[in-house]
Amino acid sequence: MKIGIPRALLYPIYIPLWKTFFEELGHQVVLSGRTSKGILNNGVKTCVDDACLPVKLFHGHVMDLIGKADVILVPRLISIYPGEFICPKFIGLPEMIKNSVSGSPKLLIMNFNARDRLEKGYDGMRQLGRELGASNTNVERALDRARARQAEYESMLESGFSPKSILEKRNARQSPASVKGRIGLIGHPYLVYDDYINMNIVEKLAARGYEAIFPENVPLEDIELACSRYPKKLFWSYGKRLLGGGLTMLEKRKVDGLIILTSFGCGIDAFIDELLLRANQREYRIPQTTITLDEHTGQAGFDTRLEAFIDMMEWRGRYDNNIPAYGTDVYTGKSLV
Ligand code: SF4
Repeated sequence: MKIGIPRALLYPIYIPLWKTFFEELGHQVVLSGRTSKGILNNGVKTCVDDACLPVKLFHGHVMDLIGKADVILVPRLISIYPGEFICPKFIGLPEMIKNSVSGSPKLLIMNFNARDRLEKGYDGMRQLGRELGASNTNVERALDRARARQAEYESMLESGFSPKSILEKRNARQSPASVKGRIGLIGHPYLVYDDYINMNIVEKLAARGYEAIFPENVPLEDIELACSRYPKKLFWSYGKRLLGGGLTMLEKRKVDGLIILTSFGCGIDAFIDELLLRANQREYRIPQTTITLDEHTGQAGFDTRLEAFIDMMEWRGRYDNNIPAYGTDVYTGKSLV
């Protein structure tokens, strides 16, 4: 059977797990095309207006698979770590697709809910494997291989590779000799790893001599440690990764600047960006900017903001003593002369 997987939402994080699982069960995996104007326009036309850009884009990728696959995988990610949750939009995704996309082949809905125990999260995959006609033994064997492949992938991400460099089997990292500096690119995987949506930001940074570092490059223990400064546990898994990833980059002085890529209307990002900005202003004072993306974001405006940020960052690197012409600290306003 040809199983279609939309190249959207958490595809760049979980594709080794999903693809290996289905292939081990004897199915063929077909991916939707890379994000394009056509895919984006289809998603925007089909999805309800008030959804965020990544969810609209998921609709476009599902439509791209119509006619290419016998069934389409729609993961329903509820919780990926015990005691934590994923954005509620992921929970309602299968229903949104069913009600908005017409002419789609059967949807394969795969639940993942590890709220109580991580192991329990995989029950949704086990159930789906059995629904596809595999025996318990074959499902367990496929799952073991898929999890091993996923663990290998995640350890490569933590060692500094990007999903693109691993999935496309090319070393996209610049050698340190050619790098002027490093910029932390903080955002959900579906923004920072989708070159169409983020307007090729990684290449644009590389053209100016900067290597991008991503939240997935930060080990989970460091993320937990960085977030332990807050009195309350962060229960959004990706919010925690973005905040903890950014804080770790700042704390370890791994970056010369931080760029937050956020989707217009994302409630989780609204909090996370603010917490990161406050911590940065208070403790680290490293240049930081936020770029908000939606379906109306234009290339020219995006490039101008990026260029301005890099210019400002380099200017600060050369001249910054936190004393503007009138002699007060730029953050506290206290006199420094
Ligand atoms: S976390 Fe934000 S960007 Fe991601 S699906 Fe939810 S609302 Fe959309």
